Amino acid sequence: MELKSRVMSQEQQLMHLLNYRVSFTEKEKKYFWKMKKGFEGECQFDELLAKSVPNENCLVLNDLLLEHNNTQFQLDSVLLSTSTIYIFEIKTFEGDYYIKNGEWFFCKTNNAITNPLHQMQRSETLLRQLLQQQGINSHLPIQSNLIFIHPEFTLYHSSIDSPIIFPTQLNRFMNDLGKKITVKPNQRHMQLAEKLKSMHISRPSFDNIPKYNFETIKKGIACASCRSLHVHLIGGTKFQKICCKTCGHLEGVDVSILRAVKEYKLLFPDRKVTTSEILQWCGLFKSKKTILRIMTKYFNKVEKNRYSYFEVK
Ligand SMILES: [Zn+2]
Repeated sequence: MELKSRVMSQEQQLMHLLNYRVSFTEKEKKYFWKMKKGFEGECQFDELLAKSVPNENCLVLNDLLLEHNNTQFQLDSVLLSTSTIYIFEIKTFEGDYYIKNGEWFFCKTNNAITNPLHQMQRSETLLRQLLQQQGINSHLPIQSNLIFIHPEFTLYHSSIDSPIIFPTQLNRFMNDLGKKITVKPNQRHMQLAEKLKSMHISRPSFDNIPKYNFETIKKGIACASCRSLHVHLIGGTKFQKICCKTCGHLEGVDVSILRAVKEYKLLFPDRKVTTSEILQWCGLFKSKKTILRIMTKYFNKVEKNRYSYFEVK
């Protein structure tokens, strides 16, 4: 059972929206792709886990950010079974790497990278201490696994007994795990999982978000399928649709505008949702008529003096 699901953070959502609305610098591009790849890899792992381990026999917590002794540590995926607390650190490294004197290097550049095993072991120690400090004596051993999910990852000189799961071993590892986890968790396990969930720290970070403003950002309705801003209106006024010039995807006007408003609100939380702003934001319509119809249907109109704006119903 998934107790804490994996959702895109506000930072990830903003970067996804900005990716096609502002020009990223090389550094921002790299950051965005790394973040995107990481999230996709984690979701891929979640799918595999859901397929392999019976849902009713485990408690899963994703993306836990915990703190112990003023040190924060992130756990990509935690699985609680009746016999073990499993920690999965998921890495999406691609290409060839090697280990030399306990340090990790990228073959292509010979550059040293942060040792992911150390990082994972540190998290395991901190979790153990945190549970003890909280007076949680679960008697459950903690088992950490470093998962490499990208099929083109290779690591030279790794030791046979290290807790690394390579892409070629992942399916077998998951099947074996599924066979091991056969008993339903009881109330005690549920309490432990709920306790861990309650200790999660929400820490929105916007340090890596590029600066943007309403005046200069690329406006327009983004295609629901390919995110292209090259869309046009088709059909008569009654059955209008938005058609994507890039991929041909068709979508009703209502859904498209509602998504555009959602994106506008995420990007500009301090600006009011007014018909003229949304008209500008969508960019497709000649008059406020369609926008006004949809806003009145799905939002609450707030009138202040001679000024009016919309709020979520
Ligand atoms: Zn499209």
